[in-house]
Amino acid sequence: MLIDTHCHLTHERFRDDLPEVLSNAARVGVTGVIAVASDLDDARVVEGLVGGDPRDGRTPRIWGTAGVHPHTASKAPDELPERLGEFADRGAVALGECGLDYHYDLSPRDAQLQVLDDHVEAARSTGLPLVVHCREAEKDMKEVVRGAARRGVRGVLHCFPGDLDLLEVAIESDWRVSFTGLVTFSSFAGVEAVRRVPRDRYMLETDGPYMAPVPLRGRRNEPALVPHIRDRVAEIRGESPDDVERDTTATALSFFGIEEGMTP
Ligand SMILES: [Zn+2]
Ligand SMILES: [Zn+2]
Repeated sequence: MLIDTHCHLTHERFRDDLPEVLSNAARVGVTGVIAVASDLDDARVVEGLVGGDPRDGRTPRIWGTAGVHPHTASKAPDELPERLGEFADRGAVALGECGLDYHYDLSPRDAQLQVLDDHVEAARSTGLPLVVHCREAEKDMKEVVRGAARRGVRGVLHCFPGDLDLLEVAIESDWRVSFTGLVTFSSFAGVEAVRRVPRDRYMLETDGPYMAPVPLRGRRNEPALVPHIRDRVAEIRGESPDDVERDTTATALSFFGIEEGMTP
């Protein structure tokens, strides 16, 4: 029982063969996928994918998120917390992905910070967790995570590259991190973070269609490739793949509050 906690199933690269993508995932034991939205239009499309019963062995169950990626923060709609609340009322299991991306800086940083704060506010009022993207913005992110925790908001730092200070802040704040296929790259600089993170504080994700793990690097990434990430994390931590699978699934179920419908 594996959960891909972050995949962009609405991406155009899945348009032609999504049913096959999902059955391939089910075949290798992926029983759940969190379909992550990049903006509110995308979040409407995500809502159309939600559902499925993993008990037939042919498809994982799919849950959805709603949020505005930092790349498009400057185009976020007005009254964003209220708009996000509407998605929460219709069953979104998390808000995001939101965050800070100072690598590409596609939106001005003050807009990124404001839109991220809107997500924190919506998370506070709905009780949903956040799915957070952070690239080259560790300093500001530490403040955001601490501030969110003071408001009772939990989140996951997705595609975690391994900054140990930020990991410490996340753990102190009862946040989670999740690891992608990045862990399989020889250039991966976060080995120590994978080793140190407590077993109940991290999850696995593909971030498909981006960043396929070795040995499939360069191909389209998809939920069926989660086992590669699980196996590399297990190797780094000196644990068995079964242990990693059990721990990360338990963490995902409780973090997203999605216990129901997952019993085999
Ligand atoms: Zn991201
Ligand atoms: Zn993403």
